[in-house]
Amino acid sequence: MAVPFRKVSKTRRDMRRTHYKITANGLVECSNCGAKIRPHRACPKCGFYKGVDTSKETKTEVKVAEEKKAPKKAKSSKKSEE
Ligand SMILES: [Zn+2]
Repeated sequence: MAVPFRKVSKTRRDMRRTHYKITANGLVECSNCGAKIRPHRACPKCGFYKGVDTSKETKTEVKVAEEKKAPKKAKSSKKSEE
Protein backbone atom coordinates (compact mmCIF):
# COMPACT_ATOMS: atom_id res chain seq x y z
CA MET A 1 0.00 0.00 0.00
CA ALA A 2 1.31 3.40 -0.93
CA VAL A 3 2.14 5.56 2.08
CA PRO A 4 2.75 9.35 2.15
CA PHE A 5 6.47 10.11 2.10
CA ARG A 6 6.25 12.46 5.08
CA LYS A 7 3.77 14.08 7.40
CA VAL A 8 1.88 17.03 5.94
CA SER A 9 2.73 20.07 8.09
CA LYS A 10 0.02 22.16 9.74
CA THR A 11 0.80 24.98 7.34
CA ARG A 12 0.47 22.81 4.24
CA ARG A 13 -2.69 21.17 5.55
CA ASP A 14 -4.23 24.57 6.37
CA MET A 15 -3.16 26.05 3.03
CA ARG A 16 -5.00 23.21 1.30
CA ARG A 17 -8.08 23.88 3.42
CA THR A 18 -8.24 27.55 2.44
CA HIS A 19 -10.24 26.32 -0.56
CA TYR A 20 -12.83 24.59 1.65
CA LYS A 21 -15.62 27.15 1.79
CA ILE A 22 -19.35 27.03 2.23
CA THR A 23 -21.32 28.31 -0.72
CA ALA A 24 -24.57 30.24 -0.60
CA ASN A 25 -27.70 28.31 -1.51
CA GLY A 26 -29.17 29.04 -4.92
CA LEU A 27 -32.44 30.89 -4.62
CA VAL A 28 -35.35 31.09 -7.05
CA GLU A 29 -38.36 33.38 -7.16
CA CYS A 30 -41.71 32.01 -6.03
CA SER A 31 -44.02 31.71 -9.03
CA ASN A 32 -46.94 32.94 -6.92
CA CYS A 33 -45.66 35.76 -4.67
CA GLY A 34 -42.19 36.40 -6.13
CA ALA A 35 -40.32 35.89 -2.85
CA LYS A 36 -36.80 34.46 -2.98
CA ILE A 37 -37.13 30.82 -1.90
CA ARG A 38 -35.03 27.65 -2.01
CA PRO A 39 -35.72 25.58 -5.13
CA HIS A 40 -37.90 22.43 -5.11
CA ARG A 41 -39.64 23.52 -1.91
CA ALA A 42 -43.02 24.95 -1.05
CA CYS A 43 -42.90 28.72 -0.56
CA PRO A 44 -42.69 29.42 3.20
CA LYS A 45 -44.51 32.73 2.74
CA CYS A 46 -47.52 31.81 0.57
CA GLY A 47 -47.40 27.98 0.69
CA PHE A 48 -47.47 27.52 -3.09
CA TYR A 49 -45.50 24.79 -4.84
CA LYS A 50 -45.70 24.27 -8.64
CA GLY A 51 -48.79 26.49 -8.74
CA VAL A 52 -50.58 24.46 -6.07
CA ASP A 53 -51.46 25.89 -2.67
CA THR A 54 -49.89 23.46 -0.19
CA SER A 55 -51.49 25.25 2.78
CA LYS A 56 -54.43 22.93 2.03
CA GLU A 57 -51.94 20.10 2.44
CA THR A 58 -54.00 18.09 4.92
CA LYS A 59 -56.98 17.89 2.56
CA THR A 60 -54.88 16.69 -0.39
CA GLU A 61 -53.06 14.17 1.81
CA VAL A 62 -56.36 12.67 2.89
CA LYS A 63 -57.55 12.48 -0.74
CA VAL A 64 -54.33 10.77 -1.85
CA ALA A 65 -54.49 8.39 1.09
CA GLU A 66 -58.10 7.47 0.26
CA GLU A 67 -57.24 6.85 -3.38
CA LYS A 68 -54.35 4.59 -2.41
CA LYS A 69 -56.31 2.70 0.23
CA ALA A 70 -59.40 2.08 -1.93
CA PRO A 71 -57.87 -0.53 -4.33
CA LYS A 72 -55.93 -2.19 -1.51
CA LYS A 73 -59.07 -2.65 0.54
CA ALA A 74 -60.83 -4.21 -2.45
CA LYS A 75 -58.01 -6.72 -2.91
CA SER A 76 -57.81 -7.56 0.80
CA SER A 77 -61.59 -8.03 1.01
CA LYS A 78 -61.48 -10.45 -1.94
CA LYS A 79 -58.78 -12.47 -0.24
CA SER A 80 -60.77 -12.59 3.00
CA GLU A 81 -63.83 -13.78 1.06
CA GLU A 82 -61.86 -16.61 -0.50
ZN1 LIG B 1 -44.68 32.42 -2.56
